[in-house]
Amino acid sequence: MAPHLSVVIPVYNEEANILHLWTRLSKVLRENFDDRGWEVVMTDDGSRDMSLDMLLEIARLEPRLKVVEFNKNYGQHAAIFAAFAQTTGQVIVTMDADLQNPPEEIPKLVAKMDEGFDIVGGLRQGRQANDSVFRTMPSKIVNAITRKTTGINLHDYGCMLRAYNREVIDAILNCRERSSFIPALANSFAKRITEIPVAHAERAAGDSKYGFWRLINLQFDLLTSFSLLPLQMLSVLGVAISALGFMLFIGIMIYRFIDPAGTVEGIFTLFAILFFFIGCQFIAFGLLGEYIGRIYVEVRDRPRYMIKKVHKRE
Ligand code: UDP
Ligand code: MG
Repeated sequence: MAPHLSVVIPVYNEEANILHLWTRLSKVLRENFDDRGWEVVMTDDGSRDMSLDMLLEIARLEPRLKVVEFNKNYGQHAAIFAAFAQTTGQVIVTMDADLQNPPEEIPKLVAKMDEGFDIVGGLRQGRQANDSVFRTMPSKIVNAITRKTTGINLHDYGCMLRAYNREVIDAILNCRERSSFIPALANSFAKRITEIPVAHAERAAGDSKYGFWRLINLQFDLLTSFSLLPLQMLSVLGVAISALGFMLFIGIMIYRFIDPAGTVEGIFTLFAILFFFIGCQFIAFGLLGEYIGRIYVEVRDRPRYMIKKVHKRE
């Protein structure tokens, strides 16, 4: 019989956390969900440490753990996606492997789902002080832009401790697009969405896998896959600049009539204006390029990831 709850966890070089995570997680699941049934699906996202061996060793003893093995590292969201495909539960909870999301919060999320919501998001209480500003500031910006572009007012997209119902997950699995940021994608398929506060801890061990460039990339993903707003802004900017240019032309003509000999000092102003326009053009090209690049990636239609093996017992 299909279990009620599926927990999905992406794992990338988390050997220092796995045992502790499993101890806490399995305790919570056994105490709260043994009657309704549960399973855990973890994707090993091409870890280069002992993570995979540890997962397989646990799975040998606990048949309710399925392990998806990637042949290399494809990133957190690809890993979650691949794990979704293996879930059979009615309620699917995603979380991180680094114990920043306490497993003890899962029953709260599931209880909220029982009230009939499609998605229940976690709202992290008090981001930890040792998450440096370089990590929290970008997240804040990401959250704000996501809110603006996707139009859904969730406060904490970065929090991976979230619960989805089966229908939302099936809709996500039908998406063939490559750059999918799961929380935003899921929200576009759900009607009843809510958030509850969840505890948030420091990363238990190991380092964050997100550097500056990965965050920038994630931001572009969000912007271009959920909105055409930047393209529309380009046209608005173009109109504004042309209007300015036209007014300037009129101004210069008038100036010439008033003072026919004094044209030379105007050249420097013109240079300044020219550089401004050139800058605008480069920004515009860059944005267009970003969209076109994404179209190119999309039409190549390569698989998003390659699964080496799914370790599960029937
Ligand atoms: N992760 C992954 N593949 C990656 C990067 C991260 O599966 O390429 C996993 C990682 O093991 C963790 C989760 O995604 O379970 C979140 O990563 P991390 O804690 O580094 O992100 P942060 O908390 O700094 O946002
Ligand atoms: Mg983390």
